[in-house]
Amino acid sequence: MKAKIRTLLVILAIAISVCFSFDAIAGAQGGGGAPSSASTISGKIYQFEKIADGVYYATSNSPMATGGNHPIIINDRDVVLVDDGTTPAAARALLQDMKLITDKPVRWVVNTHFHYDHTDGNSVFGPDVEIIGHEYVRHAIADLDVVHREPLKSALANMPIQIESLKKQLGDARDPAQRATLEKQLAATQADLEEIKTLKPTPPTMSYSSKMTLFRGQREIQLLFLGRGHTQGDTVVFLPKEKIVCTGDLMESRLAYMGDAMFDEWVTTLDALKELQFDTVLPGHGVPFHEKSLITAYQSYLKDFTIKVAELRKQGLSAEETAQKVDLTSHKADFPQIQGPGAEVRGVRRMYEWMDERAKR
Ligand SMILES: [Zn+2]
Repeated sequence: MKAKIRTLLVILAIAISVCFSFDAIAGAQGGGGAPSSASTISGKIYQFEKIADGVYYATSNSPMATGGNHPIIINDRDVVLVDDGTTPAAARALLQDMKLITDKPVRWVVNTHFHYDHTDGNSVFGPDVEIIGHEYVRHAIADLDVVHREPLKSALANMPIQIESLKKQLGDARDPAQRATLEKQLAATQADLEEIKTLKPTPPTMSYSSKMTLFRGQREIQLLFLGRGHTQGDTVVFLPKEKIVCTGDLMESRLAYMGDAMFDEWVTTLDALKELQFDTVLPGHGVPFHEKSLITAYQSYLKDFTIKVAELRKQGLSAEETAQKVDLTSHKADFPQIQGPGAEVRGVRRMYEWMDERAKR
């Protein structure tokens, strides 16, 4: 019996670590911090890495659930914030920490896509702030009951499991330093759960369909819909003069959540992304990068994923079985989070659904 319980706990731990390694789950893992350097300013919860004059990249390693990373664009009179975090509390903490880099007000928020770890800070902004998203983002948040669908559904279901797991670890831990860390994590996760239960999904106040440009003083900020991919409405924020592109989860520096993926269109949309003249990519999760070759590597991963998942499905495997078996380890050099065979099950389920959708067309 004891052995059975131990096996169950191991399975649970693996399940949690798999879930938490993907972007759409809240928490420090969602952000992935940029390494601190002379050009990094640290606040209470967030670090701000200076990318160019008036352009920062905010990340967090806090045990508080913060969500995606944030490009911050400071203009002559105001600030454009890209994405606003997993919870109202995270958004408020970000606005507080941002006082370290600017005293100008946030007047514009861009939602790169509808996932909760990029939009659930929307409700903290007053009427003097315009929240801009692709028209699909407005539709998704307004009409699709996002609280009861993925990716928030799993996040909500996993948080009590994570709390129980932390309590158990705390019960076993003897080392004072380890206990202190676990206590902090437990308190933060309990606070996150309470906060996330009270979420009020808030749609953008302004939407666009293919392109929108903000001219703020000397700054030109393009919002581009390059095609469907990570979701059906991903915005890329492009600063043509600074040659910086903010990609949300359309292109991360690591593997993205695929539960809403439009697989083949995603590959084509990344071709369009590579056409832009940029030197720096600020992704929704992970770290800034410069090489277009990483985008090509991700396209190759996506193509391989679709081929291999389709093959296993043809052999009669369920999505859950395929998720265990699909072997994408040949992409490990580009995406070190691949530790062995297997892929996140929600991405595989989405692939099955997507194949059914295509078969009907
Ligand atoms: Zn996402």
